[in-house]
Amino acid sequence: MRTQIPLLEKYPQLIYLDTAATAQKPKEVIDALRKFYEESNANVHRGIYTLAQKATLEYETARETIANFIGAQREEIIFTRGTTDCINLLAISLAKKIPSAKSEKNKTKENKTEAQLQKGDEILLTEMEHHSNLVPWQQLAKEKGLVVKFIPITAQGTLNMTAAKELITIKTKIVSLTHISNVLGTINPVQEIAALAHTVGALCIVDAAQSVPHMPVDIKKLGCDFLAFSGHKMCGPTGIGVLWGKKELLEEMEPFHYGGEMIQEVSFTDAQWNEVPWKFEAGTPNIAGVIGLAAAVQFLQKKGMKEIQKHGEDITRYAYKKLRAMSRVQILGPEVLISEDIDPEGSQTPAVRGALVSFTVAGIHPHDVAEICNRYGLAVRAGYQCAMPLHKKLGINGSVRASFYFYTTTKEIDALVQALQDAERIFHG
Ligand code: PMP
Repeated sequence: MRTQIPLLEKYPQLIYLDTAATAQKPKEVIDALRKFYEESNANVHRGIYTLAQKATLEYETARETIANFIGAQREEIIFTRGTTDCINLLAISLAKKIPSAKSEKNKTKENKTEAQLQKGDEILLTEMEHHSNLVPWQQLAKEKGLVVKFIPITAQGTLNMTAAKELITIKTKIVSLTHISNVLGTINPVQEIAALAHTVGALCIVDAAQSVPHMPVDIKKLGCDFLAFSGHKMCGPTGIGVLWGKKELLEEMEPFHYGGEMIQEVSFTDAQWNEVPWKFEAGTPNIAGVIGLAAAVQFLQKKGMKEIQKHGEDITRYAYKKLRAMSRVQILGPEVLISEDIDPEGSQTPAVRGALVSFTVAGIHPHDVAEICNRYGLAVRAGYQCAMPLHKKLGINGSVRASFYFYTTTKEIDALVQALQDAERIFHG
């Protein structure tokens, strides 16, 4: 596996356990970027000449590849800078006008006032959100006088679904939650939450930054209205992300940025918007990033998303069991690991943990743990992991996270355990 990743080949001593932050890049992706610049570079959608048409074709074909990957239609795929950008796009656009997830009723002119968020309307998040699915909503709430509520987590680090059912009311206009927690590894019941949101006409947004890279994701099965993910966590380049949205909702929504590409007609005093998805893609897009992301998708598809998921589950179970055996290590998140743990027959029970394990080591600051890991060539994340409120709720000042991908081996997990034992020896004698 390492041989497919030039960076890992270049640094044979490196044990990269920080894929949840960003994944390493396969040769195919790097080659696709180089090939684009060497053979196809021109701006898209505006040139009459052959090279511009070639660039446009590659860009729009990439959109198709990415749409197919999540079971979507081509025009429902909006390219952004990443998950954070997607959620900001939604918060900014929905502040201008909110389409209805539920019925045709709210779309009529008579009910136009209902297309605006009203003071006192509620946004429902969860206690395990990454800052990128929290701060944009906090700011929107301040601007519009909205109320942000949170589905609490249980002692096991799963969502408290009894509370969720009570919190979703007719006041709820937006429910936005992570598919897989980047700290706890919890896989949330998105399908169930989306169905609950729709019973009250609320929109359901899914932060899929940690799920799309690791498991097959089909937007039709999830039943949500919007899904956001980042290219760089799934072997693609940095600076490219994807927002999927239901076409009828995107068509109703207001643009995020204004400028070139996103318009159909412009006068000195007014403008008409382009069709979706271009309405949301003002300015020159990250053309190379899109082409690189499509190469990443093809690379992952060749490996097989089911195989990637299975490897993630196996390696996570291995790490979980090793770390659980260490008396000073406290693992965060759900105890039950994967389908095999809860269903020995190996039926269709979904996995209940993503490919990561976060933990604390008693008496050692997470930064010190990471520093000692670094001496072993181990790259792990340490700190609040962009989820400060969650850590505060858990009563801890940060954690250490080891996260995995298809290139992670059990030998690398053994090296992590050895580094942690060393850290314990240094701090506790
Ligand atoms: N949500 C989750 C669950 C994440 O793990 C991350 C990245 N750590 C993000 C959102 C933000 O992604 P990006 O930095 O690519 O915008």
